[in-house]
Amino acid sequence: MAAAKHFTYVILGGGVAAGYAAREFAKQGIKPGELAIISKESVAPYERPALSKGYLFPQNAARLPGFHTCVGSGGERLLPEWYSEKGIELILSTEIVKADLASKTLTSSADAIFTYDTLLIATGSSVIKLTDFGVQGAEANNILYLRDIDDADKLVAAMQAKKDGKAVVVGGGYIGLELSAALKTNNFDVTMVYPEPWCMPRLFTAGLAAFYEGYYANKGIHIIKGTVAVGFDADANGDVTAVKLKNGNVLEADIVIVGVGGRPLTHLFKGQVAEEKGGIKTDAFFETSVPGVYAIADVAAFPMKLYNEMRRVEHVDHARKSAEQAVKAIKAKEAGESVPEYDYLPYFYSRSFDLSWQFYGDNVGEDVLFGDNDPTAAKPKFGSYWIKDGKVVGVFLEGGSAEENQAIAKVARAQPPVADVEALKKEGLDFAAKV
Ligand code: FAD
Repeated sequence: MAAAKHFTYVILGGGVAAGYAAREFAKQGIKPGELAIISKESVAPYERPALSKGYLFPQNAARLPGFHTCVGSGGERLLPEWYSEKGIELILSTEIVKADLASKTLTSSADAIFTYDTLLIATGSSVIKLTDFGVQGAEANNILYLRDIDDADKLVAAMQAKKDGKAVVVGGGYIGLELSAALKTNNFDVTMVYPEPWCMPRLFTAGLAAFYEGYYANKGIHIIKGTVAVGFDADANGDVTAVKLKNGNVLEADIVIVGVGGRPLTHLFKGQVAEEKGGIKTDAFFETSVPGVYAIADVAAFPMKLYNEMRRVEHVDHARKSAEQAVKAIKAKEAGESVPEYDYLPYFYSRSFDLSWQFYGDNVGEDVLFGDNDPTAAKPKFGSYWIKDGKVVGVFLEGGSAEENQAIAKVARAQPPVADVEALKKEGLDFAAKV
């Protein structure tokens, strides 16, 4: 057996959180050789959201090294050289297949052994595949998923091979909406299929969704709701040719994209660490039930101070901030000091076509649509407030300026009282500007 390689700190996973954690370690001060990032991927940490956006542009597409972390939040771009200059070891193309938290040992698929004093689990999520449920024909070529850069390259290759063809997008969430737009922009004939009554049902209200569905329809995207894909046909080469729907319809397809959700990658730690909400349970400093083991970003179920409950958040802003919080807490603890508890305000965003929305806070309680959600508007600007116990707890805004987006974030944090819902509806964005 190979000799173990020891590091003071190991970040397991080389995605968004790993990049931001490495930058924070460098800021706080580490010695060369103390920190390693171990990643299944073959490239240094990058801004994952770019994969469903700029990476798929028909012209001037984003490519590495352009979107390595930490450019997504306006910070310095950490190229592989940055890691070597700081003495941070990037151990790439290395999948950890066994983690023994008791002996502080990680084992790779090639039997390499790594030991650590402090571990940060940043393994993110994996996509749910239709083959997981045994959907007939789901293993055909060009039925694609999108989680990492290899997946994105497969999609780009398929778009080139099936130029101007027919694409079916299964799922009406983030991935479904962003990829339908990307495929349409690449001149595919696109059909979206999802079982829910409207797209992005976990966030959008009926009023918000009506705009996006209308806008997509005006762009020529076909939308089929209330049904699911139950099987696929393929040709003699094994390439997908059709999607069979539960409602009996059959759609021709050269490419199928499936975006039906993800699962946090926690299986290596099952039975070794406390879990909650499908993730690894942490405190407000992202330390798990095992001292010296931290879990950050998608995999962490942490106390959301603002709402006084445990939550798991699968969004990039939290990936960045939880990584920074954990590293600050680790370094403070070593110095016998402490840092304030994590006090996160949920923030999600998405972009497709010329559209761009932001959401802050919690989408619970009564929703109040404001502005003009006409999908034919030249410059759409509209949104929604959510009101719970007489207070605004969440705000969504399409087409906001930087100042307007700052204003809605402030509202979601301040939770101002609302006496008159009708007046709020009329006031719309002006309400946020006054808070
Ligand atoms: P990841 O960034 O996924 O990194 C996990 C890393 O761990 C990967 O490198 C993986 O290969 C590695 N890994 C996992 N298991 C092992 C193992 N056993 N051994 C070694 N390495 C391992 N969020 C938004 O808020 N807005 C968006 O617009 C948005 N767009 C997105 C678009 C796409 C296509 C995707 C996939 C996600 C998007 N997200 C978006 C979500 C956001 O990217 C994630 O929440 C964020 O990347 C989570 O960071 P993470 O570090 O936990 O996981």
